[in-house]
Amino acid sequence: MHVHVVGNACVDTTFRVGRFPAVGETLNAVASADGLGGKGANQAIAAARTGAAVTLWTALGKDAAGAWIRGRLGRELSDVRVNEFDLASDRSIIVIDASGENFIVSGVACSEAFDPISQTALARRIGPGGILVMQGNLPAAATNACLRAAQQSGARTILNASPIDEAALPDFDLVDMLVVNQSEAKALTGREDMAAAAGALAAKGAGTVVITLGGEGCLTLGPGQAGSVRLPAPRVEALDTSGAGDVFCGCLVGGISKGMSVTSSLKFALEAAAISVTRPGTLLSCPSASEMAALVDQTELS
Ligand code: AMP
Repeated sequence: MHVHVVGNACVDTTFRVGRFPAVGETLNAVASADGLGGKGANQAIAAARTGAAVTLWTALGKDAAGAWIRGRLGRELSDVRVNEFDLASDRSIIVIDASGENFIVSGVACSEAFDPISQTALARRIGPGGILVMQGNLPAAATNACLRAAQQSGARTILNASPIDEAALPDFDLVDMLVVNQSEAKALTGREDMAAAAGALAAKGAGTVVITLGGEGCLTLGPGQAGSVRLPAPRVEALDTSGAGDVFCGCLVGGISKGMSVTSSLKFALEAAAISVTRPGTLLSCPSASEMAALVDQTELS
């Protein structure tokens, strides 16, 4: 099954500082670097590294950052379709202090400008042989329009509702598989207990519900299933968990697109995400294509 990821791509500019500046203060960083980011890009790349056929549909500005993002995406993805705007490309400024605390400010003009009409036309073309994957970075109207058109075309729809904007949530009836983490599940349902939260999300209309549980793995509730099932994560020494959720989602989608069962795809995603948390960085920590191939073999044999 062909995977269509409709989502954001941005420049992540990271500054490492000894301490956070005070209001009005100018502070020199200890180190700084630009990296490719955006949940859409991260998940598309993770899925492509599993060997899945992936198209990323994204929005960029006609600026140097947009050209830079295109170049980086082109190293990883063979098919990238861009909605181009006379706007600044999306960018996140990530400031990390000596103790590892961070704050992040994001410019999201291109994601906000994502055109629901052309995206709907695309989603309508996906058809029964495809999977649409979306995240929470685009406006709810664009997300809903794409999910609805893809579902009507017979495609499978997967939504990672992250980040969540509680004022503008997508319609869960349009989602065949919903993936959220624990804090998102709590915010969406008000439930502390994750099995109860999964039930509440299914009651809101989502087909299969997957809640990621950090080092505890994940919990899944299939359509019509009486109770949820927990799958443990491999025990590892976690160094940096940023981006683990994107590796998890990309690999889950990659597994499903290759015809693996949902359970096998979840086990594969747990293995890949566990590797990613042992390494620094977001995209940098994602397992390579050859590591993914070995993990798929291992999961299919187990
Ligand atoms: P989270 O968004 O924190 O729920 O993490 C997403 C996924 O990353 C989890 O479902 C795990 O597969 C993986 N993960 C996160 N933290 C750890 C950890 N400490 N050890 C192993 N896997 C982890």
